[in-house]
Amino acid sequence: MENINIQSVRELCQRGALRAFAKDGGVYLEDTATGESVRLDNQPAKASTAPQREPERRSRTERVFGSRDTWDTPAQPRNPDSDQGPYKGFLMIQCEDCGEVKAYNARRETYGFKCKCGHETPLEKLRPMFMHCKCGKTFRYKTNLTAKQHTHICMDCGSPVDMEINSRGTAYVTIGERR
Ligand SMILES: [Zn+2]
Ligand SMILES: [Zn+2]
Repeated sequence: MENINIQSVRELCQRGALRAFAKDGGVYLEDTATGESVRLDNQPAKASTAPQREPERRSRTERVFGSRDTWDTPAQPRNPDSDQGPYKGFLMIQCEDCGEVKAYNARRETYGFKCKCGHETPLEKLRPMFMHCKCGKTFRYKTNLTAKQHTHICMDCGSPVDMEINSRGTAYVTIGERR
């Protein structure tokens, strides 16, 4: 489209070669033959700005939680092999012998948790735990807890955060979230 002006746009619209429409708060001109469209105002299209901020925020979280591929994504289909270890990253493990709960960051893949009582609890069928503190921090653990509810202290601000097992029994979620 060279040397285009309002007059030629009007003619092209009348011929049906161009189509103007509004989307996402912007005005677009579309070539009806190719489906190609351009945004007419100067705002950059959403696609070019939004993804740039996302990875930055993620990498900061990655520094806290370790590599992204160790995280549990709730939307992912369950892998039958994931019932077994090894596990890595933030774990919240209850000793099956003495009942002591310990939250820690496993930097290497582990199959068991050695409690200070001396008992080693095997890590299997861990469930993700999504902890959202009111201070804004989010922590993801994997846990072998079985209690309906569990309260854990935010590592950042020290507030207690109440969590409960969700209705499907697949994960612990923060009580009072999105209700
Ligand atoms: Zn123990
Ligand atoms: Zn907090």
